[in-house]
Amino acid sequence: MIARVLCLLLILSGAQASARSAEPTVAVGIFSGVRFSACTVVGGAELQVAATGAEGALPPGTCRAGMALAFRADGDRVTASAAAPGPRFTARAWRLTSSSPISVTPEGGRGRSYRGELVIRARAGRLRLVNRVGLEDYLRGVLPAEVPASFHPEALKAQAIAARTFALANLGKHRAEGFDLCDTSHCQVYVGAGRADPRLEAAIQQTVGVILTYQGEPIQAVYCDTCGGRTAGNEDAWPGSRPLPYLRPVLDAEGGTVWCARSPRAVWSRRIPQRKLGDALSGLGVQGAVTAIEPAACDADGRPTRYQVRTEQGEWVINAGALRAAVNRALGASTLPSSDFKAAPNGDTLVFAGRGNGHGVGLCQWGANEMAKAGKTAEEILSHYYHGATLTRIYGSENVPGE
Ligand SMILES: [Zn+2]
Ligand SMILES: [Zn+2]
Repeated sequence: MIARVLCLLLILSGAQASARSAEPTVAVGIFSGVRFSACTVVGGAELQVAATGAEGALPPGTCRAGMALAFRADGDRVTASAAAPGPRFTARAWRLTSSSPISVTPEGGRGRSYRGELVIRARAGRLRLVNRVGLEDYLRGVLPAEVPASFHPEALKAQAIAARTFALANLGKHRAEGFDLCDTSHCQVYVGAGRADPRLEAAIQQTVGVILTYQGEPIQAVYCDTCGGRTAGNEDAWPGSRPLPYLRPVLDAEGGTVWCARSPRAVWSRRIPQRKLGDALSGLGVQGAVTAIEPAACDADGRPTRYQVRTEQGEWVINAGALRAAVNRALGASTLPSSDFKAAPNGDTLVFAGRGNGHGVGLCQWGANEMAKAGKTAEEILSHYYHGATLTRIYGSENVPGE
């Protein structure tokens, strides 16, 4: 898939940019954070069911409109039946397609509906569901989960372009598990077809096929809820990652106005026992209760990139993103909402006063919304957060915004 995308970009960068390509397909691992061994599927009138490696196949006409099919993992194979006490058929994989969204309900969970193709496999008694879907339909399931539809249209367009670009840049991220992207915030949250909104639909349609590139390749267009006034460089959020030229720290302000100051998560405070902090950071080598955490290095905008952690036993210098990740892994996902904070000792606790919510890298969603309300275009918003990246339309027929 990546080779195909690169090929398209080469075509575009040639003298004739008229040879637009087809829309790519994305394989999304759905319910990927959930373990279950059975599910029911309801398709529309046109539901087609095909089996790979089958011992027999569902007879034609078994899947009438509105009829539920039951699937259950059997080791590394999947059995299907059209009615509870009815004939069962086992196959290595089942492929379901329909002209209308297919509704899937994992055992003991809540159902969702999906456009495109549904592939059902099993591994060691657990079902693995993959939704193969066109990139634009994929975005229709991402934007409702990743951005408020009430945001300004230009911010929504910027978000659509960022999410589309992120998907293309990360195709194959989960190749070992048999899909491209998972449906959690590890990649992008994807909720399928059920939460359409005309405002999000407009943002997708007005940017069809448009992505951000750097040196001809889709960029890692990461985004976060609220940066807190200054974004982070990618290597300061994710230690060991190569500094990317378009993910440099950005002062998220203009003329004294902090763009994301109106976010409900612009500032935060937490009180954490010193001993708990020491335990949380023990995986990074810290020993003992943490008596102080102070910035050891900051970027040009003053955002801490490394912290010095002190205990009675010693001092350690720790990458800002690594510190936040270790604390949140040990004490709960939103214990430290961001890696931009000051910490002051108080009794046997540290009191944290922080700014922003999320990793802080790339587009700041609340900042983008305020920029849009102040009259900035989607293109201006994207070039603010992803400095040096270029807007490119790789498929679709209309002009690139700002072209
Ligand atoms: Zn993922
Ligand atoms: Zn911001």
